[in-house]
Amino acid sequence: MLVFSTFLDQIISNLRAFGLRDLIDIAVVAVAMYQLFLFARQSRAGQLVRGLLLLFVFYALANLLELRTVRWVLTNVLQIGFIAAIVIFQPELRRTLERIGQSTNLTKRLFSTRKQDPTLRGAWQSAVVAICDAAEQLSDTRTGALMVLERGNNLDEIIRTGTPLSADVIPEMLGTIFYEGTPLHDGAVIIRDGRIVSAGCVLPLSNNLEMGKDMGTRHRAGLGMSENSDAIVVVVSEETGIISLAKNGVLIRRLDRQNLFNLLQEEVIPPESAEEQPPTLWNRLFGKGGAGKHAAEKTTR
Ligand code: ATP
Ligand code: MG
Repeated sequence: MLVFSTFLDQIISNLRAFGLRDLIDIAVVAVAMYQLFLFARQSRAGQLVRGLLLLFVFYALANLLELRTVRWVLTNVLQIGFIAAIVIFQPELRRTLERIGQSTNLTKRLFSTRKQDPTLRGAWQSAVVAICDAAEQLSDTRTGALMVLERGNNLDEIIRTGTPLSADVIPEMLGTIFYEGTPLHDGAVIIRDGRIVSAGCVLPLSNNLEMGKDMGTRHRAGLGMSENSDAIVVVVSEETGIISLAKNGVLIRRLDRQNLFNLLQEEVIPPESAEEQPPTLWNRLFGKGGAGKHAAEKTTR
């Protein structure tokens, strides 16, 4: 009984000493652990993390039993393994860090690359109409197309894989680029600030196993791009003429011109308030507009 009451006293005194600092401490570690487990589950690093945990258990046992040679071997294996893991999983780690950087509205508003230029809205408005016209025509003629519309995330790395261009977005231009047999018809066109900036670009392929067997690398590339950035991707199938839109790792299929127009208008045309509001620090932090609104919600269709 005495032991029990001492134990209770200890818990109560510990709880009394528990302050805001401890709460923050625990919250930070909990969030970090949660992110680590999410990363391990979502990436191919899952098995590696399990392997590392097992090695740690062996290491603790070797320590406990004072098996010096085993401990020496495990220490070296863990050290080399840690460096090897960083090298092997560099793309996943980079993506995770980029996601963390993009995940808060505050960082989006402060570091948003979206310009609050009054002409930008006009440029995107006419680009969206042209993209819809082109998609309809390309679908009718069964011409394959892949169009990436850059938003908050900078796509310089992808742009560099293609041929630089500087052209207005007009249906004739998109039709010419994707016309089979022309030098730039393979790969994707990148549209930035309502203008074509590159063609023949190579996009990252999605690893999504749930994609239908009828979809090949063009659709996988479109989906992959939307998983790796906040860009919107329009895909026109060469085989079926089906128009699809990829956003945040979701592929919305069988769009007609009107559906596509509605989605693009909602997703890529900067809101009118961006024109009216001067980009003061206050507006960037707490006001409307900016990239946050555009990168936010997920389509469930
Ligand atoms: P479709 O319905 O038009 O046939 P699909 O999804 O079945 O499309 P494929 O038939 O494999 O895909 O399309 C191949 C074309 O997709 C290539 O010629 C190329 O233009 C484009 N493509 C494939 N991989 C990539 C990539 N990583 N980045 C950009 N474009 C790509
Ligand atoms: Mg195909």
